[in-house]
Amino acid sequence: MSRVYNFSAGPAVLPEEVLKEAAQDMLDYKGCGMSVMEMSHRSKMFDNIIKEAEADLRKLMNIPDNYKVLFLQGGASQQFAMVPMNLMKNKKAGFIVTGQWAKKAYQEAGIYGEAVQLASSADKTFSYIPDCSDLAITDDMDYVYICENNTIYGTKFKTLPNTKGKILVADQSSCFLSEPVDVTKYGLIFAGVQKNVGPAGMVVAIVREDLITEDTLPFTPTMLKYKTHADAESLYNTPNCWCIYICGLVFKYLLKNGGLEAMKKRNEEKAAILYDYLDNSKLFIGTVEKNSRSLMNVPFIVNPAVITDPEKKAELEAKFVAESKKAGLENLKGHRTVGGMRASIYNAMPKEGVIALVEFMKKFEKENLQ
Ligand SMILES: *Cc1c(COP(=O)(O)O)cnc(C)c1O
Repeated sequence: MSRVYNFSAGPAVLPEEVLKEAAQDMLDYKGCGMSVMEMSHRSKMFDNIIKEAEADLRKLMNIPDNYKVLFLQGGASQQFAMVPMNLMKNKKAGFIVTGQWAKKAYQEAGIYGEAVQLASSADKTFSYIPDCSDLAITDDMDYVYICENNTIYGTKFKTLPNTKGKILVADQSSCFLSEPVDVTKYGLIFAGVQKNVGPAGMVVAIVREDLITEDTLPFTPTMLKYKTHADAESLYNTPNCWCIYICGLVFKYLLKNGGLEAMKKRNEEKAAILYDYLDNSKLFIGTVEKNSRSLMNVPFIVNPAVITDPEKKAELEAKFVAESKKAGLENLKGHRTVGGMRASIYNAMPKEGVIALVEFMKKFEKENLQ
């Protein structure tokens, strides 16, 4: 068996320890003679799994009692509709458009009401987080929406926007559990777990209780009401049992390893190794403004000021992706809309992986820059 360093943006690397534990329990989960994939979601065994997963997540994030934790399906993309259906009582909300995922949420909300763009960083290909200290938020807005970490462009909100008293809704998909957050600052946090936490197929939604009501937009399907899932403790219908189980193991792994404070420290260390190199490299350059840099997703390109021929630049980037793959560094190709490269260095990416990447980049630079 040999494992690669997997820099995929999602689905992404998981802690080896967790995978091994799941493998061990695969055929016979704790003596019950079946795997978690085969057991009833109404069984006592599974009830323990889901309850423990929630309790551990609450502990990890210090989630106050007046917030519900929901394990939902449909991906983060389904939340782009579910949020307005449940929260847009005045049919108006403000959006900070910092990349493709924020834009998709903004456009989707426009189907259900008036989606107002409060700020955007589209003018510089989403390479920074705009100033959100004094946005044109009006009284009739139901909430203000952000994508807190922009997976594709590699930017992250370092300070939350001043919402002027309005509810803050955040898509935390690619920074979920990467560092401590003050849950009380949000009305609703959601995250597709396949980025930083678990396998694909589930979203964790953390919703303040007073926002969970029957008063949704009139056509809202039962399955898309937060209330349906909150009342049934995420067991209204068959949930993604396997994903809840694996996420539960990851929560335990995080708790055991110092929780989110420790993760933050580790993630800062890892990101600094890569950013420091990028800042000193001749051949490569990061694409994000320094004060907006994500700890999780690091896009970079061959410096067009050094390799001025665009064709030669594209060639070098393709060569980098191909050769890095041969060296056991996988999935470094940038998002199709940005080009270049992107290294996603989530919680489960060991520091050794980032060091190996930087060593490879140094070697590549030496060989390809005369
Ligand atoms: C990946 C991603 C999404 C989309 O997630 P799906 O689960 O595929 O719908 C949304 N927002 C962010 C920030 C993402 O990184």
